[in-house]
Amino acid sequence: MRIVMLIDMDYFYVACEELRNPELKDKPTIVGAHPKEGKGRGVVMTCNYAARKYGIHSGMPISSAYRIKPDANYLPTDFMYYEEKSREVMLIIKSYAYKMEQVSVDEAYVEVAEIEDYKAAEETARKVKSEIKEKTGLPCSIGISTNKLLAKMACSSAKPDGIKVVKAENAAAFLREMPVGDLYGIGRKTSEKLEKLGYMKIGDLAKANIMHLMEIFGSFGLEMHNYANGIDDSEVSENYEVKSISREFTFEKDTNDREEVSNALLRLSKEVMDDVEKQGFSFKTVTLKRRYSDFSEQLKSRSIKPSNRLEDITETILSIYNAEDEKRKIRKLGVRVSGLTQYKMQKRLF
Ligand SMILES: [Mg+2]
Repeated sequence: MRIVMLIDMDYFYVACEELRNPELKDKPTIVGAHPKEGKGRGVVMTCNYAARKYGIHSGMPISSAYRIKPDANYLPTDFMYYEEKSREVMLIIKSYAYKMEQVSVDEAYVEVAEIEDYKAAEETARKVKSEIKEKTGLPCSIGISTNKLLAKMACSSAKPDGIKVVKAENAAAFLREMPVGDLYGIGRKTSEKLEKLGYMKIGDLAKANIMHLMEIFGSFGLEMHNYANGIDDSEVSENYEVKSISREFTFEKDTNDREEVSNALLRLSKEVMDDVEKQGFSFKTVTLKRRYSDFSEQLKSRSIKPSNRLEDITETILSIYNAEDEKRKIRKLGVRVSGLTQYKMQKRLF
């Protein structure tokens, strides 16, 4: 038996926006296309739960959302920022994973090897969840089961901010009463078609005649019959590779005070080193990133001999910083190491 986990961030884009603007919390907030007083084209990318209460959901035309709630907060997408947060999240997940498949910016499957114990898996899930919350401030939900499909379905029912375990022996009961439209892979059109055929619940579909389904839906008919029975043999395919590790810091007030900047660099270096160590990496490039008051950005890198020592990060970063007498005020600092090689086996925490 295997155990698979799906870790999926809750309302990710809006949750990221709430991090840098806590006032958005508790108010209906939507990230997506510009509503243009209801004439906007494009869709809702993500919305928070305060917006969902009104029936707004991702994928909905932004004009429909506007009709429902014209006074909601409408924000444009900032993918660079979301990707930065995503990297932080994925790095944490990776540090627990034996096998990891990132499926989108905010979702990853993790395979649990060598353990046949849902309780241990649940405990680990709790650790992953609280470390993500603690280090990034972002909420997620986790589904745990015996394959990807069931982990996904478990995760959906755990949302928001929950953990749900569906043991293999309970899978049929878990799926049985759900409407067919809730089954992974079944869109609105297909579910309407299924309902017309009399398959209202996933349990009805599970008992359906396979040949009948294949007559109507082709090979997809077979697939949905498998899914309805909780069957999914697809692998968690390792596709996640850490290319760099970085940390960033934004000053409360833009500064060119050399001591303040140096101290921030030392702190960031230490945080980067903690991750480097946890994952058992060596690095050979150190990069200093500066964003100035006018939002212009400067990246300076230096290569060194492969190292896994904190001093090599701090010395390199400070020598890049001290190489010039920069007077411009800095808004944001970043420290990054790259050219990573994993020299230590991943701890198998699962
Ligand atoms: Mg998500």
